[in-house]
Amino acid sequence: MKAVYPGSFDPPTNGHIDIIKKASRIFDVVIVAVTENRSKVHMFSINERLKMLKDAIKLKNVEVKSFKGLLVDFLKKVEADVVIRGLRAVSDFDYEFQLALMNRHISGGKIETVFMIPDEKNIFLSSSLVKEIACLGMDVSEFVPENISMALKKKFLK
Ligand code: ADP
Repeated sequence: MKAVYPGSFDPPTNGHIDIIKKASRIFDVVIVAVTENRSKVHMFSINERLKMLKDAIKLKNVEVKSFKGLLVDFLKKVEADVVIRGLRAVSDFDYEFQLALMNRHISGGKIETVFMIPDEKNIFLSSSLVKEIACLGMDVSEFVPENISMALKKKFLK
C-alpha cells in the first residue's frame, strides 16, 4: 500500500525523519509531499526543501515530491488512499482531526489518515522552534539531520 506524508518541512527535523522511517516500515511506498503553495511564508524555497529531504533520506521505498493545490488531488494523481500525519501532543489534535475529516469528506470517503507518534526525544520538536533556535545562533545539529543543520547555519550567516 502507498501512503503520502504531506507537510511544509520548513525545514525537515528529526521528528519528520522519525515519522518517515516508521512509515516506511509499514507501507510499501511512502511519498513525502512537500507543499508548495501554502499561505505560510517559507524560510526555505521548495527546491531547497526537496533537496534537504532527498539528501537526508536514503530509503528505497521513500520518494520525495512537491505538490500544489488540494492534497486529495495529489493523492489521486499518485494513486494513494492513505495520508500519514505525525501527532506530537494534544495541541496537534484539534487541527489534525479537522484536516483528516475534511480530507475524507472531500474525497468521497476514499482517503483515510493514519497518525503516527514519534520517539519521545522528538516529541517537542517543530520546524518553527528549530528556526527560532538557529536564528539565535545556537547549534541545532541535535535536532535536525547534518545537511539541514549546515543549511540553517548558511541561511543565518547571510
Ligand atoms: P504542516 O504545515 O503541514 O503542519 P509540518 O512540516 O509542520 O507541516 O508537519 C508535517 C507533519 O509532520 C504534521 O503531521 C506534523 O504534525 C508532523 N510533525 C512535525 N514535527 C513533528 C515531530 N517532531 N514529530 C512527529 N511529527 C511531527
